[in-house]
Amino acid sequence: MDNNENLACRVCGFIQCEEPWGEDGSTPNFMICACCGTEFGYEDCTKESVKVQRDKWLDAGGRWWELKNKPNNWDMNEQLKNIPIDYK
Ligand SMILES: [Zn+2]
Repeated sequence: MDNNENLACRVCGFIQCEEPWGEDGSTPNFMICACCGTEFGYEDCTKESVKVQRDKWLDAGGRWWELKNKPNNWDMNEQLKNIPIDYK
């Protein structure tokens, strides 16, 4: 199934190469989001921690963790739309 929700970072909505929380949505891979720097399975464990992490990231200006992965035409607001509905 091609489901962007499973591929999106819960904090910033950046689409990952593989599901941050696995196919079942409960097996984090502990990779780091190239965009917001969240470690999957750590800062994004609960709805509350996701919101705290997102606020921190936005307060800091939405900076990229790995700048080389930033698309040239990056649109933060478009990306934020990818955030899974349960974590918005
Ligand atoms: Zn992220």
